[in-house]
Amino acid sequence: MSPDTQRSRKPEWTPDDGGEAFAARVLPGVAGGHDGLPSMAVDADPSPGAPAERPARRPLSEDEYVNGVLAGDRAVLARAITLIESNAPAHLAQSQAVLRRLLPHSGRAIRLGITGVPGAGKSTLIETLGLELLAAGHRLAVLAIDPTSSLTGGSILGDKTRMEELSRRPEAFIRPSPAGGVLGGVARKTRETMLVCEAAGFDVIIVETVGAGQNEITVRSMVDFFLLVLIPGAGDELQGIKKGVVELADAIAINKADGDNRLRAEAARAEYNRALHYLTPAGDWRPRAYTCSAVSGEGIDALWQVIGRFRERATESGAFEARRRAQARDWLRALVDEGIRAAFYDRPAVRAALAEVEAAVMDGTLPATTAAQQLLALLEEK
Ligand code: GDP
Repeated sequence: MSPDTQRSRKPEWTPDDGGEAFAARVLPGVAGGHDGLPSMAVDADPSPGAPAERPARRPLSEDEYVNGVLAGDRAVLARAITLIESNAPAHLAQSQAVLRRLLPHSGRAIRLGITGVPGAGKSTLIETLGLELLAAGHRLAVLAIDPTSSLTGGSILGDKTRMEELSRRPEAFIRPSPAGGVLGGVARKTRETMLVCEAAGFDVIIVETVGAGQNEITVRSMVDFFLLVLIPGAGDELQGIKKGVVELADAIAINKADGDNRLRAEAARAEYNRALHYLTPAGDWRPRAYTCSAVSGEGIDALWQVIGRFRERATESGAFEARRRAQARDWLRALVDEGIRAAFYDRPAVRAALAEVEAAVMDGTLPATTAAQQLLALLEEK
């Protein structure tokens, strides 16, 4: 290496094939960056008057990602997740290489999905349960999927009071998962983030989502146990939780069972237990409703015991492993389906014909089935 290339490098945001069109260089910095890594990052000599930019960080090598995550280094873990969340095609190869090496170290955690309407008490419950888990020696990662963040730019974690104590604990790791709006967005990122957290030694993973239709199904497809959080006295229409979500649940927690709410919570529990009774359980596990108070902590430990019993029983019967295997297969198929769809709509012949065929279907001049046949016939064209 020439002395010059030892001293300076291109920052990671310059494309590989950018040639000399990108003049920026990053100079080696001092040891011990703000993220605790031996940093080489310093600003690329910002011109006077230019707004101060965040220092570009030295890209990590595949080995550094893998070793850092396996060593439980939080800064590297956070960067590995950022890499996974990146939509840049250039990052995909590296993130997949890292994942592939971390995969053998994943899978040992219990994966818990928690859903419920905003205000049901999910974050309070996760905080209370989480602190109990940490006290029992567990390490907890919370991945919160916020379906609204892509619309509002905000995040359900934007409110700083959420899981305040938990977020200060080194044995806990809380991360919002950006909702991409597409399968390859939320599901890929959250699922792969979960695997990376497991490789980093977190033995309980909670995937939290707001009840909003498709989200629950996505989350259900990546967790071992799915907990639905409801509140008493909110009426029969399942509090905006779409029908069908109750069927996905492995347990229902009727939260806020405290103070004046106790009796109502008991009534709701009985009501949901009756509803659950009429559903055919998927395996030998019969989902039930429980009351709890995330604020007082009452019933939270009992919920954790239910999850433990589920894990024990499902492991014994083989249902636990079978569910994970089926999830992995379904996930693969979903990715292939998505890829096929994208490739189809990307074909020049399809792009050329689509608008016209769609218009004919919308106008009612062409039957949709015929139109679909016409479009699919374009697959034969080169
Ligand atoms: P999330 O939107 O589902 O995460 O709900 P939060 O955890 O933010 O809780 C919403 C509100 O309900 C907050 O004001 C909490 O303090 C309150 N809350 C949560 N759990 C309980 C509970 O068990 N009992 C009572 N009385 N209030 C609770």
